[in-house]
Amino acid sequence: MVKLQIEARGIRDPGVLSAMREVPRHLFIPPPWDRDAYADAPLPIGSGQTISQPYIVALMTELLHPTSTDIVLEIGAGSGYQAAILSKLVKKVITIERIETVAERARTNLAAVHAKNVEIVFGDGTLGHPPSAPFNGILVTAATPEIPEPLKAQLTEGGRLVAPVGSRSIQDLIVIERHGDQFREEQFGGVRFVPLVGKYGWEE
Ligand code: SAH
Repeated sequence: MVKLQIEARGIRDPGVLSAMREVPRHLFIPPPWDRDAYADAPLPIGSGQTISQPYIVALMTELLHPTSTDIVLEIGAGSGYQAAILSKLVKKVITIERIETVAERARTNLAAVHAKNVEIVFGDGTLGHPPSAPFNGILVTAATPEIPEPLKAQLTEGGRLVAPVGSRSIQDLIVIERHGDQFREEQFGGVRFVPLVGKYGWEE
């Protein structure tokens, strides 16, 4: 998976590549789809939600520029796989999930891989997580019409936020980097995520 799907498409960050080699992706996918865990595709994880294609997980992680002292917030815990990858690269990961059964499953999956520096929070991630802010990095893994203002406000100086921004059906992968009150923006092409549902996202 790493050689053919991730390295071959230009992901170079050695930390990201080794995290993708270390975390057993099949432990995050329910049967019968776990058989395809290392395929080049997103897969269902129940409750109408999906785990992203491995390459997209790697790309978003690399774009975050993670370092070992970072505190990172993820919106959309899903299976917990992206949080498990991040947990190998940063000091602490907080991941928020709005569907309680999905959050419970993420908790079980992350315990199975002994990811001890991940906290799973049940709730609306478009509000961020003020008790743990500010964050060096924020990863939004659901499609949003625009970047929720509370998330921008919870970035550190120089902090980076990666998110799929666009319509419910198709989005652009956006990175913003905070410099004072300014946010430098870059775009990284078309992606497809399930909707971010919440106060600063889409309506139910
Ligand atoms: N990162 C996940 C995949 C995310 S799928 C993984 O590695 O498997 C998107 C997830 O975002 C879904 O589980 C969905 O329920 C959740 N979600 C959608 N809107 C949300 C919100 N406002 N707050 C928190 N989670 C949300």
